Parts: sequence; structure tokens; C-alpha cells
Amino acid sequence: MMHGHPRTGAATKRKLAILGATGSVGRNTLDVAARHPDAYAIHSLTANTSADELIELCLVHQPVVAVLSGSVDEGAARRRLKEEGCLTELLCGSAALSSAVEGADVVMAAIVGAAGLAPTLSAARAGKQVLLANKEALVMAGPLFMGEARKAGAVLLPIDSEHNAVFQCLPAGRSARADLSEVRRILLTASGGPFRTMRLEALEKVTPDEACAHPNWVMGRKISVDSATMMNKGLEVIEARWLFDVEPSRIEVVIHPESIIHSLVEYIDGSVIAQLGNPDMRVPIAHALAYPRRMASGASFLDLAKVAQLNFAAPDLARFPCLGLAYAALAAGGTAPAILNAANEVAVEAFLRKRIGFTEIGPVIEHVMGRIAAGEATTLEEILEADHVARACAMDRVEHCEERAA
Ligand code: NAD
Ligand code: MG
Repeated sequence: MMHGHPRTGAATKRKLAILGATGSVGRNTLDVAARHPDAYAIHSLTANTSADELIELCLVHQPVVAVLSGSVDEGAARRRLKEEGCLTELLCGSAALSSAVEGADVVMAAIVGAAGLAPTLSAARAGKQVLLANKEALVMAGPLFMGEARKAGAVLLPIDSEHNAVFQCLPAGRSARADLSEVRRILLTASGGPFRTMRLEALEKVTPDEACAHPNWVMGRKISVDSATMMNKGLEVIEARWLFDVEPSRIEVVIHPESIIHSLVEYIDGSVIAQLGNPDMRVPIAHALAYPRRMASGASFLDLAKVAQLNFAAPDLARFPCLGLAYAALAAGGTAPAILNAANEVAVEAFLRKRIGFTEIGPVIEHVMGRIAAGEATTLEEILEADHVARACAMDRVEHCEERAA
């Protein structure tokens, strides 16, 4: 059987599991896979609580297994599938996520947030080909995750557009853990989000809907807010540090509002190699699905004359302190990035619920990082414990902010 080959005919269809199928990355993955029905069979789809959305996807894609990992009306969901004559086996509860992974060849890890860590790690431990969208797994557990993936012989392919771009710009044919001795820097591009040019005073009053209206990408609400605060880029610096095994001092962020250059690799001879394309997640998804070959993604082709201009600037850490906090967490090491991530998830959720203002997100995270000392991050238990403690501290801080505002 030819693994990694997208055009191997019906007998060797690769079985695809999509964790977080109802989300933005999950749906884009289904779109790409559906363009190549001879190459991919949908083995499993998972969602948290969006039962109706998951059932709709089951009716269209007919997976073997579907999982609702959150608390839902199990009986109603099963009845609906049966009424529609759908043969998909529905499983419920977060322990069932491992059943979604088991029979698959390729696992798209597209659950958002810390909830994605355990299932993504189990896919890596099972030695699967893991398409990694859930950046929080590497942020929280980078060294553990990479070590387990290596031990199990899992193939990790980055889906985050920047990391997928870096992967493509690294020496051809080498793995994500390429020899980087000839690489001088990795340059991650950042759009700067919807508030790139907004004054600090105006930032205090922005609403969740304004924060989620990204100029170039349509994404889930959590990552959209992360893009607006630039924490997304901070998480991506941490993700790149572990994925490519490169010191933080060699990872730089450059603002590029058009999101046409998805990232760059600079070599010791002064050459800089970039990956370009229209901002469409189906491009990195198709790249990773077909790797090491190429296949159509459905994305429109780049018209450079129409783009006409590409702009660049240095990031402004005064207006966007979250990027600096992420570098600080990386420098502190151990569980510090897991603490940063947990505090960020709580602060973003509080902002989305209008409990705190946009400019309070960074200070809440900074407060938590100051209160909780980083410890060892060698086991999943240690990391989840740090996540737990940081969440509690962040929730207290959110309440404090609310009381102060009242
Ligand atoms: P989304 O919010 O659109 O979808 C999230 C998916 O995860 C949904 O299917 C949801 O049901 C599931 N989910 C949510 N909470 C869960 C929980 N507690 N347990 C189990 N499942 C849960 O998110 P998205 O924008 O598709 O992002 C997914 C991941 O990919 C994130 O880690 C994000 O950082 C990363 N990513 C996304 C994009 C993008 O363009 N959207 C780009 C790069 C990286
Ligand atoms: Mg990205």
C-alpha cells in the first residue's frame, strides 16, 4: 500500500478522522476531501455539542463513526440519524474521541483550545499521520508532544498557514524536524488583525463582533479574538519553536496586512524563501493531505498584478502586549506556556461574553502569569494541573475586573 499517495484508487482510500469537524478548519477539510473521493474516505467526524450540525455532516459524508464529546441529548441525536437512514455509529462523551482516532490513517486535529490536547496527543501516540491545526496542543505540551510523536513514528504536518508555509520553505524533502544549521531565521507573518492601526483608546471600546471580523480570514471566534490581540501570533511563535526545534531568538514576527505571504525562511547566505497564496485554509489542508504530492484545493489562484502591493511592518508590542507575553512564557519554560494559554482562553471567553473589555485580555493573562509559578511540564498530568490552576486564577481576575467596572 502506498501511504501518502492521494491517487491510489478505491482499494487504498486513506481513512480520515476529523476532530472538530463542525468548525472552520473541520469544514474546510471536508470540502477538500470531498474533491478527491477516490483518495479519501471519511472515517470519523467529531464535535463538542453542535449535534444538529454534526448530524448534517454525517448525512452528507457518511462516516463510520461520529462523536459528540460534550453533553448533549444522546437519544434525540441517535433517533434523528436512524430516521434519516444513516448508518453512522454515534458515540458520546470525551472518552469516545479515541474511538474516532482508532481506525483512521490520517487525523485532522482541529478542536479549538486546550480541549484538543488529549485527543491530539493520543493520535500522535498511536503513530498516525497527524494534521495539526490545534496549535494549543504544542503551546501547552510542546516537548512532551514532539517526543511522543517521534517515539511513535507519527508524521506531523502543520495546518496553521504560517507553519505550513515554513514547512514548505524548509529544505525540500526534509521532515518538520529538518537540520536547521543553515537556517538563520524563521519569519512568521501576521496580518495584524482588524485593529492593526487602531489607537489604544479606541481599542478599549471594541466589541466581540468587531474583534471577530478578521480582514482576510473567516475563522472560529476564539482564534479570531486571538488574531485581534495578536496572541494568535504569540501562540504561533511557541508552536514554531517546538514544531521546528528552533530557539525563540531565531523566530521573528513581521506584520503583513495582505496575508499573501504566509511565512518565510531566511538562510545563512541571505536567501529568503517565502510561500505565497490567497488566504484560504484549503491550501495548507490540501498540502498536508496530499503530502508529499500536490492536489487541487478549490482555492482561487493568486493574481499578483491584482494584489499589486505587499506591505510589511514591525509589530507594536505596546498596543498588542499579548505577543510579548507569549515570548516571556517561552523564555520561562516548563508549564508557563500552558498557564499563558489557559489564562488566554478564560480571558477571551470573558471578552466574548462582554464581561471584560478587549484591552483587559492582556492584563488578565499577565496577572495570572505573575501569580502562578511555572513548574515541570514533563507529563500530561502536570500540564493539565497547571492549566486547571491558571484557569481558576484567571476566572478570579475576571470577576475582579467586573467588580471594578461596576
Ligand atoms: P472553531 O471554533 O470553528 O471549531 C472548533 C471545533 O472544535 C468545533 O468542531 C467544535 O465542536 C469543537 N470543539 C470545541 N470545543 C470542544 C471541546 N471542549 N471538546 C471537543 N471538541 C470541541 O475553530 P477553528 O477556527 O476551526 O479552529 C480550530 C483549531 O485550528 C484551533 O486550535 C485554531 O487555533 C486552529 N487554526 C484555525 C485556523 C482557521 O482558519 N480557523 C487557522 C489556523 C489554525
Ligand atoms: Mg496561523
